[in-house]
Amino acid sequence: MAYLGDPKRTIEILNKYHIVFQKKFGQNFLIDTHVLDKIIAAAGITKDDTVLEIGPGIGTMTQYLCENAGKVIAVEIDRTLVPILENDTLSEYDNFRVINEDVLKLDLKQLIDDENGGRPIKVAANLPYYITTPIVMKLLEERLPIDNITVMVQKEVAERMQAGPGSKDYGALSLAVQYYADAYIAANVPPNCFMPRPNVGSAVIRLTLHKEPPVKVHDERLMFALIRASFNQRRKTLQNGINNSPELSFSKEAVSAALQKMGLSETVRGESLTLEQFAGLSDLLGA
Ligand code: SAM
Repeated sequence: MAYLGDPKRTIEILNKYHIVFQKKFGQNFLIDTHVLDKIIAAAGITKDDTVLEIGPGIGTMTQYLCENAGKVIAVEIDRTLVPILENDTLSEYDNFRVINEDVLKLDLKQLIDDENGGRPIKVAANLPYYITTPIVMKLLEERLPIDNITVMVQKEVAERMQAGPGSKDYGALSLAVQYYADAYIAANVPPNCFMPRPNVGSAVIRLTLHKEPPVKVHDERLMFALIRASFNQRRKTLQNGINNSPELSFSKEAVSAALQKMGLSETVRGESLTLEQFAGLSDLLGA
């Protein structure tokens, strides 16, 4: 088996099919076998698993997934790569299927029902960086049967996902991720592990989905609207952020009274509130 984790083999395939990297699809292919091993290990993939891979590219990580998982479903937007995967780089695996689609448009619930009888799958990917957040939010918000999401993302994004209150990286993404999952950075990956090299550092992050959210909140949508409002204007107080939000219509007095009830100062900023406190604020304002 010629593994694409070996840069020589990747170059061979690129030349054979005259592949031009599509910047608009965020194509940076992995060329490092150690990184591939780390992703498989971090995801905890075994032969019992069905894995959804987003963006297989020419099949570099897919080869590893096929060898370690029971079944691999890969979703690739670039249709020119599909015959290369099916007829060449993955032709010897019979536990693989590629779907030529934009993952953001796909009905993933249906896909998991069809492919795994609705049982939890694992998601693994070297994500296209231009749509990292929409993809991760789709996977989390749609409440899909997913055990864990182990993905390569831009290093800064991984840090934002994992950040807690008070850190400069803490924001709406950190809170959304915390609400749905436990985040753990499994590896930092430098640009020379990819072809072409990205301009940014990368990291592998594992999001293990909660069975139940860690906080109880009456109206999830209101809580996330409050979170967005307080981080849209980072330098403003939470009270002003909420007051200026076009999404919300609470008076300053109402917010002030709620903060007081929670034992928080009127001048507190969103960046110092925990998820639990946002849930509490949401329940007080929404009552
Ligand atoms: N998995 C390969 C690897 O590690 O070498 C390629 C990773 S590359 C960073 C991202 C891949 O996602 C590309 O193959 C790209 O064409 C694909 N992609 C980009 N946007 C996509 C979308 N909306 N839906 C599905 N795949 C997409």
